[in-house]
Amino acid sequence: MELKRKLEILADAAKYDASCASSGSHRTRKRNGIGNTEGMGICHSYTPDGRCISLLKLLLTNVCIWDCSYCINRRSSNVPRARFKPDEVVQLTIDFYKRNYIEGLFLSSGIIQNADYTMEQLIRVAKTLREEHSFGGYVHLKAVPGASRELLLEAGKYADRLSANIEMPVQGDLDKLAPEKTIAEIEDTMADVKLGIDDARDRGKKFTFARAGQSTQLVVGASDSTDKTILTKAEALYNKFQLRRVYYSAFSPAAFTDPNLKKEKTPPMREHRLYEADWLIRNYGFAAHEVTTGLEGGNLDLENDPKLAWALRHRSLFPVDVNRASKSLLLRIPGIGIRNVSRILSIRRFHRLGLEDLARLKVTLSRAKWFITTADHNPDVFQLDTAKLSSLVKRNAIQPSLFGDQTLLSTAITGEI
Ligand code: SF4
Repeated sequence: MELKRKLEILADAAKYDASCASSGSHRTRKRNGIGNTEGMGICHSYTPDGRCISLLKLLLTNVCIWDCSYCINRRSSNVPRARFKPDEVVQLTIDFYKRNYIEGLFLSSGIIQNADYTMEQLIRVAKTLREEHSFGGYVHLKAVPGASRELLLEAGKYADRLSANIEMPVQGDLDKLAPEKTIAEIEDTMADVKLGIDDARDRGKKFTFARAGQSTQLVVGASDSTDKTILTKAEALYNKFQLRRVYYSAFSPAAFTDPNLKKEKTPPMREHRLYEADWLIRNYGFAAHEVTTGLEGGNLDLENDPKLAWALRHRSLFPVDVNRASKSLLLRIPGIGIRNVSRILSIRRFHRLGLEDLARLKVTLSRAKWFITTADHNPDVFQLDTAKLSSLVKRNAIQPSLFGDQTLLSTAITGEI
């Protein structure tokens, strides 16, 4: 098979792995326009120093001896198959890099023969890039569940990031949908990667092993598992293995026929809300149970972001006095993000803040004002108790905009919610 055809098949097959930031982005393009977010091969990721970089995103092969129902590359799937030789991936990476198309490589694979053999093939690509081509770009390798510790520790020497995808939050889901996989084996793989990271750090050589840490992916909506179950699992993985990121991938059943799979397409907003809740857990001091307790059916509110939804469920804690409240309580106010909490804590040492001060900080007052008191603002507490508060906040928050929902846009840009 010619190289271009292999590239078409194996770059397309890799697009279902959400571990790159641009995965799943859709954009309509005018006729004769340029640019395509859904074309093969290039995705984006963030380096440890925060730069956004382009990666060549490929599978080494989409041939797989396993049969995960939610995966287009499963053994029983009727898709065209292809397989790169490791040297072909090396050459493609170098050629694309020299043409300035990419700054790194994201390489995953179906399971060929067994976990160790597959891991060896992935390592060979990374090792050749590093040792024979002195390639200093970013390399993200899949950590194959069940691969030996020795191989995982070798992979971390060449890769900036390793990711073992856990896919489902509970073993019952895997039993139904991915019978060859076990949570225990995937977590053992994460534990081995963590061992490598900890060992390098303890030796004062943290940049010599998976310097960008490890991540994983959870498929959302393929099984009955609720957001509560998914976020509880994600939190446990963060705590146990110090993962840098958990990615969430909304399942779309179009190409799948397994009767155990859910038939409905997962709303993209569900995935978005999970990312917001994940952000609250990682950066705002929320525990998973706080974000998920009291949810109808165990799933996050699609109408309200999880911070606003939490505030609406805990109205007795509000209004919060921005001039006196603790940092942890300030972080819980809808519309005030991490950066502004730091600024508020600094400024209030010198004078009491009023609404104008918050406006100058670009606090989203249309959301925050219902939940705070300031030197010159004391909201009507009865308004805080009204059943209409959710719609009042949203009516104020969503301004007509060229880009649609202003709240979503600003969250996407700043990460502040
Ligand atoms: S092991 Fe990976 S590539 Fe193979 S069927 Fe499962 S998810 Fe797909």
